[in-house]
Amino acid sequence: MQFSYDTKIEYLKGVGPARATLLQRELGIFTFWDLLSHYPFRYVDRTRFVPIAEIRDTSNYLVTKGYIKKVELLGTGRTQRLAAVLGDSSGSMDLVWFQGVRWVKDYLKPDVEYVVMGKPNYFNGRYTIAHPEMEVFKAEDKELIQTFMPVYSTTEKLKAQGISTKAISKLIFTMLFDLEMQLKETLPKNVVDDNRLMSRHDAICSIHFPKTSGDLQRAVYRLKFEELFFMQLDYQYVKKERKENNSGFVFATIGECFNGFYSNYLPFSLTNAQKRVVREIRNDVRTGKQMNRLLQGDVGSGKTLVALLCMLMAKDNGYQACLMAPTEILATQHFAGISRYLEHMEVKVALLTGSNKATEKRKLKESLKNGDIDILIGTHALIEDDVMFKNLGFVVIDEQHRFGVEQRYKMWTKNSTPPHILVMTATPIPRTLAMTFYGDLDCSVIDELPPGRKPVKTMHQYDSARLKVFDFMENQIAQGRQVYVVYPLIKESEKLDLKDLMDGYESVSRRFPLPKYQISIVHGQMKPADKDYEMDRFKKGITNIMVSTTVIEVGVDVPNATVMVIENSERFGLSQLHQLRGRVGRGGEQSYCILMTADKLSYDGRERIATMVRTNDGFEISEADLKLRGPGDLQGLQQSGVVHLKIADIVQDESIIRLTRNTVMDILQKDPLLETDINTCLKNYLKDKKLQINWGKIS
Ligand code: ADP
Ligand code: MG
Repeated sequence: MQFSYDTKIEYLKGVGPARATLLQRELGIFTFWDLLSHYPFRYVDRTRFVPIAEIRDTSNYLVTKGYIKKVELLGTGRTQRLAAVLGDSSGSMDLVWFQGVRWVKDYLKPDVEYVVMGKPNYFNGRYTIAHPEMEVFKAEDKELIQTFMPVYSTTEKLKAQGISTKAISKLIFTMLFDLEMQLKETLPKNVVDDNRLMSRHDAICSIHFPKTSGDLQRAVYRLKFEELFFMQLDYQYVKKERKENNSGFVFATIGECFNGFYSNYLPFSLTNAQKRVVREIRNDVRTGKQMNRLLQGDVGSGKTLVALLCMLMAKDNGYQACLMAPTEILATQHFAGISRYLEHMEVKVALLTGSNKATEKRKLKESLKNGDIDILIGTHALIEDDVMFKNLGFVVIDEQHRFGVEQRYKMWTKNSTPPHILVMTATPIPRTLAMTFYGDLDCSVIDELPPGRKPVKTMHQYDSARLKVFDFMENQIAQGRQVYVVYPLIKESEKLDLKDLMDGYESVSRRFPLPKYQISIVHGQMKPADKDYEMDRFKKGITNIMVSTTVIEVGVDVPNATVMVIENSERFGLSQLHQLRGRVGRGGEQSYCILMTADKLSYDGRERIATMVRTNDGFEISEADLKLRGPGDLQGLQQSGVVHLKIADIVQDESIIRLTRNTVMDILQKDPLLETDINTCLKNYLKDKKLQINWGKIS
């Protein structure tokens, strides 16, 4: 039988159908290649036996060597265990077994030198390894011992079928050395040479069976480089192709609508950053290519206005536009704001959400199809199949982090010619991530807040200082300001969290009693009508304090609110804290954000709070967030299936990301169609990949 990467794993000697099924189910390993790319997650350094007296901590696996000095059977029945003392010339430690006690007892012999491997615990002043791996030390067996032993992730079910980490290592050894599988180079020769990379074959061999630590490092580097290189190639090629092939509507003129609004109704002058972004977009939309642009701008930086100007540009050129928001509250607020901006102009704006009545909806859809509506604002309801435009030319998606990539593609397929798409997000994305995940979008940044804003002052207070915080709130309310008090709600249904909120509401009510004070409360389990009623009272300034869960996180705009008290703030993520803080500081008054925490904080919790107190800069916060949480956690990205990295790490490998990005850019610039011989491998790679890319577009 001829073996290749794609050969089903069951055909590998030592696997067979039953184990193959388990490997598939437990580790997603279907083929030879899947197993070859199941890299070890750790290595046990067997180049050196650690003298027992040198064991200092419990964080690492270690290999040591010694003689059994004492064996003792302790306890009875379920608590029975076997304890042994292992000693070498430097000192002694304990070994313990809870299972297989009798067997081990017979195995352990005095006067035999054992190699002992495992992760130590520290117990009653002594180091102990439970269930160590052991073998008899053979002085002549140098080969085996002087290597780094790979450790693979496996599962209990697999182990029960004999697929331990050792067995996996053996299977891989069979493929690489018994079958002598040759792993073809995938990178162009000049890329390998210029970056002095290990060949692919050597890298795969070395990552499983490294001879030295230098070897291992070079193998890891090579494989990370390869992974990131192809990711960049995917993104950059798709982007380039899309640019070349996707014709878009041409917005040739800046007309009456844009100009009329700009010179007569713009309530303030644009910031330089806003002007720059409008210019960038204007340059895109007149090229005849479809625009796909990400607009990043911190909370309060004025993205809505930029979106509005773009939508007016569309109207000037005879097209409709729409704006999609993640929540009904936000869509309604956008509708109100934009309608107010345009009240003296001949532009027809409409709102479509889940709450529109059926008849209303029907009429609305009718006028949308006729072209009577110029700008449609709404929620997800906008992308339902029966919502049809006469000639949709420009789409704005607000707060991208709440939408997946799919929604973006859905807007795209509404017309035969795709509309221009502007995605706006207030959760700034660290540069490496933007490069990686939004590699297919062009990027604009509003890096300047409108003038006259006072940065929000952020303070950390422990729960024990609550009375002081109440006094501060009282003082602000006396000056006519309003206050938010927010409680974390991890899941809207969690009873416990709701109880926190209700308890908090009671204690606030006791300190700020009626009739002098009015308090609103909003949470996710209220009826929408009740929620709106309470929101409205707060917006109108009837209530002084808004006690709520994070439903107010996104977009709510009450400029008179100057204090944001966040309870149990250690339970929030950084980007959420930043969003919440963005609810204050929207008017001319000095605003405050007070982060309440328990007296004891975890390391991460402390770091998050310190970051918030230190800076208001959304980019700095998002970078810190990424470092603390790791990218696997990033909302939306994981679910949208963009992250599939086996070995590279978005945070730690920033420099390789940059390097591969530039390398790919360089290649595509010099050889856009990948026609030279040296790049044939890349062309073939993309050809194989093609199906998947198209599938992505359609979904
Ligand atoms: P975000 O970027 O968070 O969506 P918004 O578009 O809601 O921000 O704008 C925040 C506030 O700033 C709004 O009240 C808006 O009217 C105001 N604003 C926007 N642009 C300017 C500007 N150039 N000068 C002064 N105020 C502005
Ligand atoms: Mg906004």
